[in-house]
Amino acid sequence: MASHDMHRLPVVRDRGASFSYACHGCGHCCHHKAIRVDPYAVARLADALGVSTTAVLRDYVDAATSTLRQSDGGACVFFDGGCSVHSGRPLPCRLYPLGWGGKPNGDESFYELSAHPQSAGVYGTDGTVADYLASQGTASYERASWRYAEVLRRLQLAADADGPDPGAPPSITDVDEAVRHHCEQRGEPIPDDVEARVDLHLALLHAWLDAAGAPAGGCTPG
Ligand code: SF4
Repeated sequence: MASHDMHRLPVVRDRGASFSYACHGCGHCCHHKAIRVDPYAVARLADALGVSTTAVLRDYVDAATSTLRQSDGGACVFFDGGCSVHSGRPLPCRLYPLGWGGKPNGDESFYELSAHPQSAGVYGTDGTVADYLASQGTASYERASWRYAEVLRRLQLAADADGPDPGAPPSITDVDEAVRHHCEQRGEPIPDDVEARVDLHLALLHAWLDAAGAPAGGCTPG
């Protein structure tokens, strides 16, 4: 499919604004797009695929950009006539054709992205932005986005804090590696549930940041 330079349009909405969008599976939005993934998105992809986060990071993610790999033709690595990992698709795919702008103080806005000229998607006003987000299951992704933003902010502050050296931190990107290492050291079972593994991963990161003397980062909406 031809490349399309998707960009942010000057249309900003809040959660209560009228909005609806019906996808008709043309697949244009799954080509030539930088789909960024955070540790939660990687964990959800791994859960949907039945593999570890280590495998997802190794096989499907460009480590330099934290985005999903693409084929030579620009298709997302998970595009196979449609999304082959629909239940685990990352937040940008769930939001599309909206983008989400969140600030550390909790302010947020939703902006519209330019559609591919041949997109079969149909825009409407049959619901609200909040309805659309609920239909796409974005809530856990939004919450995780804030929680990992807080970790990243604290890591920046720890680097400046000149506090005690707590040793090497848990893996920041690889949820399963950090959790497995922790559980094996303590002889504890690894949680079966992906949300529980992410909760434990965040707890391990915050415990390390506390030991490093990092102050709170202030990114805690939700
Ligand atoms: S993860 Fe699925 S929905 Fe998202 S770009 Fe890839 S194929 Fe498309």
